[in-house]
Amino acid sequence: MEICPKCGLPTPACVCEQIMKSSQRIRITTDRKRYGKIVTVIKGFDSSIDVKKVAKDMKNVLACGGTANDNIIELQGDHTKRVKDILVKLGFEEEQIE
Ligand SMILES: [Zn+2]
Repeated sequence: MEICPKCGLPTPACVCEQIMKSSQRIRITTDRKRYGKIVTVIKGFDSSIDVKKVAKDMKNVLACGGTANDNIIELQGDHTKRVKDILVKLGFEEEQIE
């Protein structure tokens, strides 16, 4: 069985990722790019979060394109209404998301 290097618990019992996720203060905004394209910007993640993985999950659910750089996720299109629900489903804390 795999053991979590952070807490020493077997990985099925490990809550490290959950604890890290619930401590993030996330902001969801939109930005207008060149040529008037709208992107949804999700930021506030600290370095403990695998932002690329979060972005991948987001893109799968929303079936849109996007990028993850410098702990900021940009999704093509305005997804502000759905992004919060998806973040909560991924384990982030609803009260911490603006
Ligand atoms: Zn752990």
